[in-house]
Amino acid sequence: MAVELGSTSALASAWRRFDAAADVLGLSDNTRRLLREVKRELTVHFPVHHDDGTVRLYTGFRVQHNINRGPAKGGIRYSPDVTLDLVKALAMLMTWKCAVVGIPYGGAKGGVIVDPGILSLHELEHLTRRFATEIALLIGPEKDIPAPDLGTTPQIMAWIMDTVSMHAGHSVTASVTGKPTDVGGSEGRQEAAGRGVTYLTLEALKYLHVGEETPTVAVQGFGKVGASTARLLHEAGLRVVAVCDSRGGVYNPKGLDLAALEEHRQVRAGVSGFKKADDITGDELLELPVTVLVPAAIEQQITSRNADRVRARLITEAANAAVSPDADAILHENGVFIVPDILANAGGVIVSYFEWVQDLQAFFWEEEEINTKLHHVITRAFYEVLHASVNKRIDMRNAAYVLAVQRVANATTVRGIYP
Ligand code: NAD
Repeated sequence: MAVELGSTSALASAWRRFDAAADVLGLSDNTRRLLREVKRELTVHFPVHHDDGTVRLYTGFRVQHNINRGPAKGGIRYSPDVTLDLVKALAMLMTWKCAVVGIPYGGAKGGVIVDPGILSLHELEHLTRRFATEIALLIGPEKDIPAPDLGTTPQIMAWIMDTVSMHAGHSVTASVTGKPTDVGGSEGRQEAAGRGVTYLTLEALKYLHVGEETPTVAVQGFGKVGASTARLLHEAGLRVVAVCDSRGGVYNPKGLDLAALEEHRQVRAGVSGFKKADDITGDELLELPVTVLVPAAIEQQITSRNADRVRARLITEAANAAVSPDADAILHENGVFIVPDILANAGGVIVSYFEWVQDLQAFFWEEEEINTKLHHVITRAFYEVLHASVNKRIDMRNAAYVLAVQRVANATTVRGIYP
């Protein structure tokens, strides 16, 4: 039941934020109705042979929210907490994310209700190929391009690409992004979301004139996004004092030895119990006295329940929908600056876009070029949002939504769907 409430509120939050932007823009009721709803939603139930001989039925979803600015783009999530409403909310966020950073995609998301951690490699491959086949009528390089998200990996993307290619009779590398580089993946994609989070954290600290010599950081979630963010912020000269995963966290005010922590995590399958730090809970991490807080795990982590106790000066919202709308208001009141999810974690989809472009032209770029282009695109978007925020006297989240919704509304109108 807790899961249902969480996912329902992710969709309710997405609608609330859209409505707030639509109010600022004075959007017509017709345009609002159109942009509030998803374009397509597919639910599939499919069998998977398990190693013990049983056949189990799984449920998955693929949702396309809006494709007026280009093909649908969005990750695939494997988690027991996936619901159709959550996938709809995340698909909507993808539309705004692509629009706010100005890349020519619409928004999509997919997911399977499964805990990937308890499947064998063989079961995971079987599930992935079967799911890819079930949603094959929607996905493809010109239509809808999946990518990794919570609980999915480059290997899983390679299986999806291979399944699509088997149906087509030739390699369709541009059908997914976030693949290994051996099969058309892009340099820099693996840590692109974390790199974008890092670039914007540094820009925001500059804008805020943070006086501390070594700003401190706490990162919630130590997966693809959280771990790379922690490493890159450390390399940029910040002091990462706390990280956590779903099992618990660790804190050392003098700074964590991230290389040693990574080794510990690989052996212990989690960060807890690391000798050179104190164990803390995930909730405690969110309330630490740090300069920067990076939620990089799941949605609805900072809500009206705990927002008042957040002591960070800056939140770079790496995880989608980590902060609730009620928490936004409290944090704003308390002077906490937020780089919102649709902007903060857009590095992933920006480099996914580069990967797709490279696959389509079968010509690959070097990592330095990719990082330079990523920096350009995401920093430009940050300053566009900042200017809108200052000029319209609205917070960064509302400003990001206003820019994004305006762009999607423009595309809708110019294509002939008049408001
Ligand atoms: P991941 O599966 O690689 O890692 C998730 C991490 O969060 C793990 O360390 C897990 O243990 C931890 N976690 C899960 N529940 C937790 C909880 N309740 N408390 C503390 N930690 C918890 O996933 P990821 O790809 O790093 O994605 C993380 C977030 O970033 C998601 O919101 C995702 O939508 C978003 N995102 C990912 C990408 C990408 O390219 N992977 C891009 C943009 C946004």
